[in-house]
Amino acid sequence: MKTKLLIIGSGPAGYTAGVYAGRAGIEPVLIEGIQPGGQLTTTTEVENFPGFPEGIDANELMENMRQQAERFGTKILSNIVTKADLGTKPYKVWLDDGEEIQADAVIIATGASAKYLGLADEQKFMGQGVSACATCDGFFYRKKVVAVVGGGDTACEEASYLAGLASKVYLIVRKPFLRASQIMQDRVLNNEKIEVLFETNTLGLYGENGVEGAHLIYKKGEAGERKYDLPIDGFFLAIGHHPNSDLFAPWLKRDELGYIMTDGDSPRTNVAGVFAAGDVADPHYRQAIIAAASGAKAAMEAEKYIKDHE
Ligand code: NDP
Repeated sequence: MKTKLLIIGSGPAGYTAGVYAGRAGIEPVLIEGIQPGGQLTTTTEVENFPGFPEGIDANELMENMRQQAERFGTKILSNIVTKADLGTKPYKVWLDDGEEIQADAVIIATGASAKYLGLADEQKFMGQGVSACATCDGFFYRKKVVAVVGGGDTACEEASYLAGLASKVYLIVRKPFLRASQIMQDRVLNNEKIEVLFETNTLGLYGENGVEGAHLIYKKGEAGERKYDLPIDGFFLAIGHHPNSDLFAPWLKRDELGYIMTDGDSPRTNVAGVFAAGDVADPHYRQAIIAAASGAKAAMEAEKYIKDHE
Protein backbone atom coordinates (compact mmCIF):
# COMPACT_ATOMS: atom_id res chain seq x y z
CA MET A 1 0.00 0.00 0.00
CA LYS A 2 1.17 3.53 -0.73
CA THR A 3 -0.02 6.66 1.08
CA LYS A 4 0.95 10.31 1.24
CA LEU A 5 0.83 10.30 5.02
CA LEU A 6 1.18 7.45 7.48
CA ILE A 7 0.19 8.05 11.10
CA ILE A 8 1.46 5.48 13.59
CA GLY A 9 -0.52 5.36 16.83
CA SER A 10 -4.13 5.79 17.94
CA GLY A 11 -3.99 7.94 21.05
CA PRO A 12 -5.11 11.59 21.12
CA ALA A 13 -2.05 12.62 19.06
CA GLY A 14 -2.61 10.05 16.30
CA TYR A 15 -6.37 10.56 15.96
CA THR A 16 -6.07 14.36 16.05
CA ALA A 17 -3.42 14.17 13.33
CA GLY A 18 -5.94 12.04 11.40
CA VAL A 19 -8.69 14.66 11.81
CA TYR A 20 -6.45 17.52 10.66
CA ALA A 21 -4.78 15.66 7.79
CA GLY A 22 -8.12 14.22 6.71
CA ARG A 23 -9.73 17.66 6.61
CA ALA A 24 -6.77 18.84 4.54
CA GLY A 25 -7.73 16.21 1.94
CA ILE A 26 -4.66 14.04 2.46
CA GLU A 27 -6.51 10.73 3.16
CA PRO A 28 -3.93 9.47 5.67
CA VAL A 29 -3.51 5.86 6.75
CA LEU A 30 -3.41 5.34 10.52
CA ILE A 31 -2.06 2.21 12.19
CA GLU A 32 -3.74 1.63 15.56
CA GLY A 33 -0.98 -0.33 17.28
CA ILE A 34 -1.01 -2.60 20.30
CA GLN A 35 -3.39 -0.51 22.43
CA PRO A 36 -6.14 1.01 20.26
CA GLY A 37 -7.08 4.36 21.80
CA GLY A 38 -3.76 4.59 23.61
CA GLN A 39 -2.90 4.98 27.28
CA LEU A 40 -6.11 6.82 28.11
CA THR A 41 -8.05 3.59 27.69
CA THR A 42 -6.35 2.27 30.85
CA THR A 43 -8.15 4.91 32.91
CA THR A 44 -11.86 5.31 33.55
CA GLU A 45 -13.31 8.79 33.36
CA VAL A 46 -11.64 11.85 31.84
CA GLU A 47 -12.58 15.09 33.55
CA ASN A 48 -9.85 17.42 32.31
CA PHE A 49 -10.39 17.26 28.55
CA PRO A 50 -12.10 20.54 27.60
CA GLY A 51 -15.56 20.33 26.10
CA PHE A 52 -17.05 17.78 28.51
CA PRO A 53 -18.32 19.67 31.57
CA GLU A 54 -19.56 16.44 33.18
CA GLY A 55 -16.47 14.44 32.18
CA ILE A 56 -16.43 11.62 29.66
CA ASP A 57 -15.65 7.93 29.74
CA ALA A 58 -12.08 7.50 28.43
CA ASN A 59 -13.01 4.79 25.94
CA GLU A 60 -15.92 6.88 24.65
CA LEU A 61 -13.62 9.88 24.19
CA MET A 62 -11.18 7.82 22.17
CA GLU A 63 -13.96 6.20 20.13
CA ASN A 64 -15.28 9.70 19.35
CA MET A 65 -11.83 10.79 18.19
CA ARG A 66 -11.55 7.66 16.04
CA GLN A 67 -14.90 8.31 14.38
CA GLN A 68 -13.99 11.96 13.82
CA ALA A 69 -10.75 10.93 12.08
CA GLU A 70 -12.61 8.37 9.94
CA ARG A 71 -15.28 10.92 9.03
CA PHE A 72 -12.65 12.98 7.23
CA GLY A 73 -11.20 10.06 5.31
CA THR A 74 -8.51 8.64 7.60
CA LYS A 75 -8.12 4.95 6.81
CA ILE A 76 -7.60 3.12 10.11
CA LEU A 77 -5.85 -0.25 10.16
CA SER A 78 -6.01 -2.52 13.22
CA ASN A 79 -2.41 -3.59 12.93
CA ILE A 80 0.92 -3.28 14.67
CA VAL A 81 4.05 -1.89 13.03
CA THR A 82 6.84 -4.43 13.46
CA LYS A 83 9.60 -2.89 11.32
CA ALA A 84 10.40 0.49 9.80
CA ASP A 85 12.82 2.00 7.30
CA LEU A 86 13.16 5.77 7.51
CA GLY A 87 16.51 5.69 5.69
CA THR A 88 15.25 6.21 2.13
CA LYS A 89 12.18 7.76 0.50
CA PRO A 90 9.45 6.70 0.30
CA TYR A 91 9.54 5.75 3.96
CA LYS A 92 8.45 2.20 4.69
CA VAL A 93 6.92 0.26 7.52
CA TRP A 94 5.90 -3.38 7.74
CA LEU A 95 2.82 -4.60 9.61
CA ASP A 96 2.38 -7.71 11.72
CA ASP A 97 0.63 -9.45 8.80
CA GLY A 98 3.67 -8.77 6.60
CA GLU A 99 2.12 -5.95 4.52
CA GLU A 100 4.49 -3.17 3.46
CA ILE A 101 3.27 0.43 3.56
CA GLN A 102 5.11 3.18 1.71
CA ALA A 103 4.60 6.79 2.75
CA ASP A 104 5.83 10.22 1.64
CA ALA A 105 5.52 11.53 5.20
CA VAL A 106 5.16 9.85 8.59
CA ILE A 107 3.76 11.01 11.92
CA ILE A 108 5.00 8.91 14.84
CA ALA A 109 2.45 9.05 17.65
CA THR A 110 3.28 5.78 19.37
CA GLY A 111 3.05 7.17 22.90
CA ALA A 112 4.77 6.02 26.02
CA SER A 113 4.03 3.16 28.33
CA ALA A 114 3.97 3.55 32.10
CA LYS A 115 6.21 1.09 33.84
CA TYR A 116 4.57 -1.28 36.27
CA LEU A 117 6.10 -3.39 39.03
CA GLY A 118 5.02 -6.59 37.28
CA LEU A 119 2.69 -7.81 40.05
CA ALA A 120 -0.30 -9.91 38.97
CA ASP A 121 -2.44 -7.78 41.32
CA GLU A 122 -1.69 -4.65 39.28
CA GLN A 123 -3.53 -6.17 36.32
CA LYS A 124 -6.29 -7.52 38.54
CA PHE A 125 -7.06 -4.08 40.04
CA MET A 126 -6.36 -1.96 36.94
CA GLY A 127 -8.90 0.85 36.92
CA GLN A 128 -10.18 -0.37 40.30
CA GLY A 129 -7.64 1.31 42.52
CA VAL A 130 -4.49 0.91 40.42
CA SER A 131 -3.42 3.84 38.26
CA ALA A 132 -0.27 5.19 36.64
CA CYS A 133 -1.58 8.74 36.33
CA ALA A 134 -2.40 10.87 39.36
CA THR A 135 -3.55 13.82 37.23
CA CYS A 136 -6.04 11.52 35.47
CA ASP A 137 -7.40 9.59 38.41
CA GLY A 138 -6.47 11.48 41.59
CA PHE A 139 -9.82 13.23 41.78
CA PHE A 140 -11.53 9.91 42.52
CA TYR A 141 -9.53 9.63 45.75
CA ARG A 142 -10.67 12.81 47.48
CA LYS A 143 -10.42 12.39 51.25
CA LYS A 144 -9.17 8.82 50.76
CA VAL A 145 -5.85 7.14 51.52
CA VAL A 146 -3.49 6.45 48.63
CA ALA A 147 0.04 5.20 48.03
CA VAL A 148 2.46 6.28 45.32
CA VAL A 149 5.37 4.05 44.31
CA GLY A 150 8.67 5.61 43.23
CA GLY A 151 11.32 8.01 44.42
CA GLY A 152 11.90 10.19 41.34
CA ASP A 153 10.51 13.56 40.26
CA THR A 154 7.34 12.01 38.87
CA ALA A 155 6.59 10.18 42.12
CA CYS A 156 7.18 13.33 44.18
CA GLU A 157 5.07 15.41 41.82
CA GLU A 158 2.24 12.86 41.88
CA ALA A 159 2.41 12.51 45.68
CA SER A 160 2.25 16.31 46.08
CA TYR A 161 -0.66 16.52 43.66
CA LEU A 162 -2.54 13.73 45.43
CA ALA A 163 -1.88 15.32 48.84
CA GLY A 164 -4.09 18.19 47.67
CA LEU A 165 -6.98 15.76 47.27
CA ALA A 166 -6.48 12.70 49.46
CA SER A 167 -6.53 12.60 53.26
CA LYS A 168 -3.19 10.76 53.39
CA VAL A 169 -0.49 9.82 50.89
CA TYR A 170 2.16 7.17 51.45
CA LEU A 171 5.21 7.33 49.19
CA ILE A 172 6.71 3.86 48.82
CA VAL A 173 10.44 4.17 48.04
CA ARG A 174 12.66 1.14 47.61
CA LYS A 175 15.90 2.93 48.50
CA PRO A 176 16.78 4.75 51.76
CA PHE A 177 16.67 8.04 49.84
CA LEU A 178 14.73 9.87 47.14
CA ARG A 179 16.19 10.26 43.67
CA ALA A 180 14.10 13.35 42.91
CA SER A 181 15.49 16.88 42.61
CA GLN A 182 16.02 18.70 45.92
CA ILE A 183 13.08 21.02 45.44
CA MET A 184 10.70 18.11 44.84
CA GLN A 185 12.13 16.21 47.80
CA ASP A 186 11.61 19.23 50.05
CA ARG A 187 8.06 19.60 48.84
CA VAL A 188 7.29 15.99 49.74
CA LEU A 189 9.17 15.87 53.02
CA ASN A 190 7.59 19.11 54.24
CA ASN A 191 4.04 18.05 53.38
CA GLU A 192 2.37 16.79 56.53
CA LYS A 193 -0.09 14.68 54.53
CA ILE A 194 2.73 12.68 52.90
CA GLU A 195 4.52 9.90 54.76
CA VAL A 196 7.57 8.44 53.02
CA LEU A 197 8.13 4.72 53.55
CA PHE A 198 11.82 4.28 52.72
CA GLU A 199 13.42 0.88 51.98
CA THR A 200 9.99 -0.54 51.26
CA ASN A 201 8.80 -2.77 48.42
CA THR A 202 5.32 -3.89 47.42
CA LEU A 203 4.64 -7.62 47.39
CA GLY A 204 0.98 -7.50 46.36
CA LEU A 205 -2.41 -5.82 46.72
CA TYR A 206 -5.60 -7.02 48.34
CA GLY A 207 -9.28 -6.13 48.32
CA GLU A 208 -12.73 -7.47 47.51
CA ASN A 209 -14.07 -5.13 44.80
CA GLY A 210 -11.05 -2.89 44.38
CA VAL A 211 -7.86 -2.07 46.22
CA GLU A 212 -8.22 -2.11 50.01
CA GLY A 213 -4.55 -2.38 50.87
CA ALA A 214 -1.01 -3.36 49.94
CA HIS A 215 1.25 -6.11 51.25
CA LEU A 216 4.58 -4.41 51.92
CA ILE A 217 8.05 -5.53 52.94
CA TYR A 218 10.54 -3.33 54.78
CA LYS A 219 14.31 -3.93 54.37
CA LYS A 220 13.83 -6.92 52.08
CA GLY A 221 16.54 -9.56 52.63
CA GLU A 222 18.27 -7.55 55.36
CA ALA A 223 18.44 -7.61 59.14
CA GLY A 224 15.22 -6.11 60.43
CA GLU A 225 13.13 -7.36 57.49
CA ARG A 226 9.43 -6.92 58.25
CA LYS A 227 6.29 -7.72 56.26
CA TYR A 228 3.09 -5.82 56.93
CA ASP A 229 -0.20 -4.74 55.37
CA LEU A 230 -1.01 -1.09 54.65
CA PRO A 231 -4.71 -0.21 54.20
CA ILE A 232 -5.09 2.09 51.14
CA ASP A 233 -7.81 2.94 48.62
CA GLY A 234 -5.57 3.76 45.66
CA PHE A 235 -2.19 2.54 44.41
CA PHE A 236 -0.37 4.85 41.98
CA LEU A 237 2.67 3.77 39.99
CA ALA A 238 5.25 6.48 39.30
CA ILE A 239 8.36 4.47 38.49
CA GLY A 240 8.90 5.95 35.05
CA HIS A 241 7.63 5.73 31.49
CA HIS A 242 9.13 4.15 28.43
CA PRO A 243 8.55 6.00 25.15
CA ASN A 244 7.63 3.62 22.34
CA SER A 245 10.36 4.77 19.97
CA ASP A 246 12.71 1.79 19.74
CA LEU A 247 11.62 0.85 16.19
CA PHE A 248 12.82 4.21 14.89
CA ALA A 249 16.10 4.40 16.84
CA PRO A 250 18.42 3.86 13.84
CA TRP A 251 17.20 7.09 12.16
CA LEU A 252 15.79 9.44 14.77
CA LYS A 253 17.57 11.48 17.41
CA ARG A 254 16.33 10.48 20.86
CA ASP A 255 17.24 11.70 24.32
CA GLU A 256 18.86 9.47 26.92
CA LEU A 257 15.44 8.14 28.01
CA GLY A 258 14.36 7.32 24.44
CA TYR A 259 12.03 10.28 23.81
CA ILE A 260 12.16 11.43 20.16
CA MET A 261 13.83 14.82 19.94
CA THR A 262 12.08 17.43 17.82
CA ASP A 263 13.06 20.81 16.48
CA GLY A 264 12.16 23.11 19.36
CA ASP A 265 8.40 23.47 19.72
CA SER A 266 7.72 21.97 16.31
CA PRO A 267 7.03 18.26 15.72
CA ARG A 268 9.81 18.03 13.09
CA THR A 269 12.37 15.28 13.75
CA ASN A 270 15.88 15.16 12.30
CA VAL A 271 14.50 13.23 9.27
CA ALA A 272 12.68 15.47 6.77
CA GLY A 273 9.04 14.44 6.41
CA VAL A 274 9.02 12.45 9.67
CA PHE A 275 7.20 14.08 12.58
CA ALA A 276 6.72 13.04 16.20
CA ALA A 277 3.65 13.91 18.26
CA GLY A 278 2.31 13.09 21.70
CA ASP A 279 3.99 11.32 24.58
CA VAL A 280 6.66 9.62 22.43
CA ALA A 281 8.25 13.07 22.17
CA ASP A 282 7.09 14.55 25.50
CA PRO A 283 8.91 13.59 28.69
CA HIS A 284 7.24 16.31 30.72
CA TYR A 285 3.50 16.91 30.33
CA ARG A 286 2.03 13.56 29.25
CA GLN A 287 -1.54 14.91 28.99
CA ALA A 288 -4.17 13.95 26.41
CA ILE A 289 -4.96 17.56 25.53
CA ILE A 290 -1.29 18.32 24.92
CA ALA A 291 -0.85 15.16 22.85
CA ALA A 292 -3.91 16.12 20.80
CA ALA A 293 -2.50 19.59 20.17
CA SER A 294 0.85 18.20 19.07
CA GLY A 295 -0.97 15.81 16.72
CA ALA A 296 -2.63 18.82 15.10
CA LYS A 297 0.73 20.55 14.72
CA ALA A 298 2.28 17.42 13.19
CA ALA A 299 -0.54 17.13 10.64
CA MET A 300 -0.19 20.79 9.65
CA GLU A 301 3.55 20.36 9.21
CA ALA A 302 3.06 17.13 7.26
CA GLU A 303 0.53 18.80 4.95
CA LYS A 304 3.03 21.57 4.21
CA TYR A 305 5.83 19.05 3.64
CA ILE A 306 3.70 16.97 1.26
CA LYS A 307 2.62 20.05 -0.75
CA ASP A 308 6.21 21.32 -0.95
CA HIS A 309 7.41 17.96 -2.30
CA GLU A 310 4.62 17.20 -4.76
P1 NDP B 1 12.99 8.19 37.31
O1 NDP B 1 13.62 7.14 36.49
O2 NDP B 1 13.73 9.43 37.60
O3 NDP B 1 12.61 7.58 38.75
C1 NDP B 1 11.99 6.36 38.85
C2 NDP B 1 11.81 6.04 40.31
O4 NDP B 1 11.09 4.83 40.40
C3 NDP B 1 13.12 5.85 41.07
O5 NDP B 1 12.99 6.34 42.39
C4 NDP B 1 13.27 4.35 41.06
O6 NDP B 1 13.95 3.84 42.18
C5 NDP B 1 11.83 3.91 41.16
N1 NDP B 1 11.66 2.57 40.63
C6 NDP B 1 11.98 2.12 39.39
N2 NDP B 1 11.65 0.82 39.27
C7 NDP B 1 11.14 0.44 40.47
C8 NDP B 1 10.64 -0.76 40.98
N3 NDP B 1 10.61 -1.89 40.24
N4 NDP B 1 10.22 -0.80 42.27
C9 NDP B 1 10.24 0.30 43.03
N5 NDP B 1 10.70 1.49 42.61
C10 NDP B 1 11.14 1.56 41.34
O7 NDP B 1 11.59 8.46 36.60
P2 NDP B 1 10.62 9.72 36.70
O8 NDP B 1 9.41 9.36 35.92
O9 NDP B 1 10.44 10.13 38.09
O10 NDP B 1 11.39 10.86 35.93
C11 NDP B 1 11.80 10.70 34.57
C12 NDP B 1 12.54 11.94 34.12
O11 NDP B 1 11.63 13.04 34.00
C13 NDP B 1 13.60 12.38 35.11
O12 NDP B 1 14.69 12.90 34.41
C14 NDP B 1 12.91 13.44 35.92
O13 NDP B 1 13.81 14.36 36.49
C15 NDP B 1 12.04 14.11 34.85
N6 NDP B 1 10.87 14.73 35.47
C16 NDP B 1 10.96 16.02 35.84
C17 NDP B 1 9.91 16.66 36.46
C18 NDP B 1 10.06 18.05 36.86
O14 NDP B 1 11.10 18.62 36.65
N7 NDP B 1 9.06 18.66 37.46
C19 NDP B 1 8.64 15.97 36.73
C20 NDP B 1 8.64 14.59 36.32
C21 NDP B 1 9.73 14.02 35.72
P3 NDP B 1 15.57 3.94 42.32
O15 NDP B 1 15.86 5.36 42.68
O16 NDP B 1 15.83 2.96 43.39
O17 NDP B 1 16.13 3.54 40.99
